[in-house]
Amino acid sequence: MSRQRTRQAVLTISAILFPVTFYYLSPAVILMGASEGIVTGSFIVFGLLFFGSLFFGRAFCGWICPGGAIGEGMCRIRDRRVTRRWVSWIKYAIWVPWLALIAALAVRAGGLTRAEFTYQTWHGISVSSWNALFVFAIVVTLIASLTLLVGRRGFCHTACWMAPFMILGRALRDRLRLPGLRLQVHASDCISCGACTRTCPMSLDVQAMVKHEAMTATECILCARCADGCPKNVISLRFCGASDCWHDNSPQ
Ligand code: SF4
Ligand code: SF4
Repeated sequence: MSRQRTRQAVLTISAILFPVTFYYLSPAVILMGASEGIVTGSFIVFGLLFFGSLFFGRAFCGWICPGGAIGEGMCRIRDRRVTRRWVSWIKYAIWVPWLALIAALAVRAGGLTRAEFTYQTWHGISVSSWNALFVFAIVVTLIASLTLLVGRRGFCHTACWMAPFMILGRALRDRLRLPGLRLQVHASDCISCGACTRTCPMSLDVQAMVKHEAMTATECILCARCADGCPKNVISLRFCGASDCWHDNSPQ
């Protein structure tokens, strides 16, 4: 369990630093920058998340994201599995128009002509004014509320604007069968105890995934809680090629 303690420690530090990093993860700052033809810090970070997901999938969500940290923290108040699968589609209905708006604003500004990583920050610090603090409080409240209303990591399922970048990147990696961080299973050792399903912070039916040897759920954030909670060590988190990790019934 020391791996999970490490993960929790990283998430806690990330949550503490969120007032600093807030604008580097902001969808609104990208829009503001695009309207002035500026590539902002959040634009660059989202690009890095996409390219990082080609190798590490959604590990950022499971190990680093401050929004995920708040979501998991709120589970100490109300820990409820997400049972309505369709809620995970909501984020795409937000993401696609948002991308279109970025493109439209950039075109209207005559293209993205310069980069400014610390755009709208004070010496690189995001929350440095009362206005920024107000917006920050709204976002934190939104993340916390969605966890309480929808269930575990409710914000990750329904509203996260970063997740689709990494879902796309991982899908591309898997399509190309590139090496990367993946879950590997030895299904024949499974005793169907259900511990993996109960512990999954993304409310996935991990036991069924193990049974079908299909560990490629788009909502999996590679947190490894299922692996660390399995009494038979059926699941492992490994950096491996697709052919090493997958069996016949995995995507081709
Ligand atoms: S926790 Fe391990 S043994 Fe139990 S159902 Fe999941 S994979 Fe099988
Ligand atoms: S399936 Fe395992 S690694 Fe993926 S989100 Fe659930 S607990 Fe984490």
